[in-house]
Amino acid sequence: MHNKTIAELSAGLKNGDFSSEELTRSFLARIEKLDPQVNSYISVTTDEALSQAREADKRIAAGNASALTGVPIAQKDIFCTNGVKTSSGSKMLDKFIAPYDATVVSKFNQAGAVMLGKTNMDEFAMGSSNETSFYGPVKNPWDLTAVPGGSSGGSAAAVAARLAPGATGTDTGGSIRQPAALCGITGIKPTYGRVSRYGMIAFASSLDQAGPMERTSEDCALMLNAMAGFDERDSTSVEKDVPDYTASLNDDLKGLKIGLPREYFGEGLDSEVAKVIEASIEEYKKQGAEIVEISLPNTGLAVPTYYVVAPAECSSNLSRMDGVRFGHRCDNPADLEDLYKRSRGEGFGAEVKRRIMIGAYALSAGYYDAYYLKAQKLRQLISDDFKKAFEQVDVIMGPTSPTTAFNLGEKSDDPVTMYLSDIYTIAVNLAGLPGMSVPAGFVGQRPVGLQIIGNYFEEARLLNVAHKFQQASDWHQRAPENFSD
Ligand code: GLN
Repeated sequence: MHNKTIAELSAGLKNGDFSSEELTRSFLARIEKLDPQVNSYISVTTDEALSQAREADKRIAAGNASALTGVPIAQKDIFCTNGVKTSSGSKMLDKFIAPYDATVVSKFNQAGAVMLGKTNMDEFAMGSSNETSFYGPVKNPWDLTAVPGGSSGGSAAAVAARLAPGATGTDTGGSIRQPAALCGITGIKPTYGRVSRYGMIAFASSLDQAGPMERTSEDCALMLNAMAGFDERDSTSVEKDVPDYTASLNDDLKGLKIGLPREYFGEGLDSEVAKVIEASIEEYKKQGAEIVEISLPNTGLAVPTYYVVAPAECSSNLSRMDGVRFGHRCDNPADLEDLYKRSRGEGFGAEVKRRIMIGAYALSAGYYDAYYLKAQKLRQLISDDFKKAFEQVDVIMGPTSPTTAFNLGEKSDDPVTMYLSDIYTIAVNLAGLPGMSVPAGFVGQRPVGLQIIGNYFEEARLLNVAHKFQQASDWHQRAPENFSD
């Protein structure tokens, strides 16, 4: 059952081939047996999952099931879940039991999906390797000595290892697409504002966006159908109708104009990864797409711009973790200042502290114009590059990540090298565009992801473009050897 896609599980549940309770029990048993190797879950919510599964079975029997009713999924531990620990990968929130559900979580509950548990992640979603988690690193199921990518590495590894048929992720600078690429699964970061951020623990509010991580594009469409939509509790959520993302999956690609940005194929890109991407572009040519060489001239500014904007916003968002309003509180504080200092000193890990310090500096009086304001101006230039490109082409393609999964520990002492692993994903967040990663092949046994970037609110087109590739390839069906049966 664990090798089936969400679409197949949904059909099986409706046909009565198996019950949601049976399905849920089988995933819970797999998690218990195999997750110790991968460490993809922070919490497994066995009792809640089984009671949701029984409810789902009743709903299916009554004939009012949605596509996701009875389907087990995992939630990234960044989403508040009522009555369940919500840690955001941090010691700071190790004891935090959320008193309400994030909008994304309530939408899945309304659809009747079953939550298996909460997935591991980099601390407060800061990282590209899942090594900054308070709960220990996640291992890549394709090679347990490699990282799964981050920050949604727990979700990506759980889906790749068949420990959940689907999971949620969040993407501030690449955290859905990069781990999807490194773990050989499919993930989409929607347009900024498409999915509600309410109840999603904030990292950088102007960049954060939630999205689905599954094995296939069709499954991403099913999950996004449930997740997307306006939410009056998120002031940046966009009031715009949600199409049925499954409706256009099979549209023909004849005449589709694909832009290949020169800057995404230059220095820094691993030559073996480049070959895999070029081979996938050939497949699109076969399907009648037209290739156009384009330029995104400000690509080189994306990482430096992001590392002003994201730390600035995180230093402000994380100020609530002070041991009083939220978060870990130190023992026996001498006075208020000691309470703040020690609670924050003990609760946050090194990468989070580094970002808070950079952000506080960039926002401090006298420096705001030189850093944050300047970064906002560069952000506009980066968006303008895409705007011009989309006057010429329908979608943009390139690698998701410049390399395949690197080894655990390989980059953890070198933050700048780590930051560069998001070189092709970060500009998409700065511009607020939708982007997707699709399994495109392997270098040795490590997966490669093809990135597809679309214009604002073109998620349906991205899912269609990815689906047509998956109809003609089987990369997305491959399973890591130790997790295939
Ligand atoms: N790796 C990037 C960072 O560390 C992006 C993280 C994310 O998208 N949440 O900030």
